[in-house]
Amino acid sequence: MTKIQNIKGMRDHLPQAMLLRQHIVGVLTQVAERHGFEPLQTPVVEYAEALEGKLGDDEKLIYRFEDHGGRRLALRYDQTVPLARVVAQYAGQLALPWRRYAYGPSYRGERPARGRYREFYQFDVDIVGSNAPLADAEIVAVLTESLEALGFPGFTTLLNHRQVIGGIARASGLDEAAAGGVYRAIDKFDKLGADGVREELLRSGVAPGAADQILALVQTNGDPGDVLEELSGRLAADARAVAALENLRAVVAGLVEMGVAPERYRVAPRLARGLSYYTGLVFEAITPHWPEGSLLGGGRYDELIGQFAGRPIPTVGLAFGIDRLHDVMEELGLGPRSSTTARAYVTIFGPGQAAASLALARELRAGGVNTLIALDIAAGLGKQLKEADRKGVRFALVLGPDELARGEVIVKDLRGDGQRSVPRTAVLELLRGE
Ligand code: AMP
Repeated sequence: MTKIQNIKGMRDHLPQAMLLRQHIVGVLTQVAERHGFEPLQTPVVEYAEALEGKLGDDEKLIYRFEDHGGRRLALRYDQTVPLARVVAQYAGQLALPWRRYAYGPSYRGERPARGRYREFYQFDVDIVGSNAPLADAEIVAVLTESLEALGFPGFTTLLNHRQVIGGIARASGLDEAAAGGVYRAIDKFDKLGADGVREELLRSGVAPGAADQILALVQTNGDPGDVLEELSGRLAADARAVAALENLRAVVAGLVEMGVAPERYRVAPRLARGLSYYTGLVFEAITPHWPEGSLLGGGRYDELIGQFAGRPIPTVGLAFGIDRLHDVMEELGLGPRSSTTARAYVTIFGPGQAAASLALARELRAGGVNTLIALDIAAGLGKQLKEADRKGVRFALVLGPDELARGEVIVKDLRGDGQRSVPRTAVLELLRGE
């Protein structure tokens, strides 16, 4: 017999993990909807052609296959390319600017590692059809509110603009063709450190003097206002960089006006972001509790949708990596730890009490309390209570002949708070309350 196993880099999630994941997605949905984002769902499979030519070097990570009809198909790599297709395909039905959110699995043929999988879930929020800096700021505000609502400690969002890095490359005497190598080298800054990036730059053909200048510029540090000011001075001769810095200044002003706490973001000229379709703002949220990589990332991509729609449609968005949020929350002990959905367990004392117990369970459910019932009456009360405890349910309820006669129910708090006899009419209120 072949070994029973799941596919490498693709995970099963048992109930306790699923409850945490559903909690994360629930919080993200709530924050997105509070900002008026609307849900979108697209298939997991797209025409391979739709994905090709959009991802740069990462294109090799696409899962491609042929279906029974000989079509060249691909598993979606992210939620962004499908969004671009949808905007082009349903142009007449979507009122722009359109705020949408989407949740589902994406697939990449990466080398699996902690926090890096081949099947992983992303929750995306995007604002389609606006180039206003306030749209960029709103996306960063949504991400900040979301991570705060999930209870993440000490996270920061790094902000940069593609044309700031372009400007740094140009100011160091490099042409457009060399800029790609510069993005790729700088993208590895957190992994390789300054020396590693320097080596990488030299390897991609950058002269030592230019490499040193690039490194000095990308390490500019301080308050957003100071960093922008310093870079404006150093890149004053480059019109595109000047415009990019102006744009970043407007985004930061938006963040201030939206009340995003200043410790939650920084301007970080070293941030490149891997995907090639970004055209403006790029950002990534990081936390010292997860040195392996970013919690999530995103940016402005004003041209991608145009590749489908035939006209540029400015868009800004982000993808929360649910698996990373999940891994970090698990490690930090954030969010729910339970493996059961039930709050109450109704025992069945004996065949003569079954109807009354089941009626009680029905009543509790109707009142909004998730309730398990005993199935094996013959097992006796002791075994039923043990099952309730093993499940991690908070309350076990007993309705024996004496309780039935008195119109009461025994409520056992399985978290160690003993038991009490409660009038049957008060049980629902009690379970709801505690
Ligand atoms: P990207 O689509 O590359 O911009 O990634 C957005 C977010 O998705 C990242 O910040 C991660 O949180 C998550 N992510 C990307 N690739 C993976 C992966 N291979 N495994 C798990 N999460 C991923």
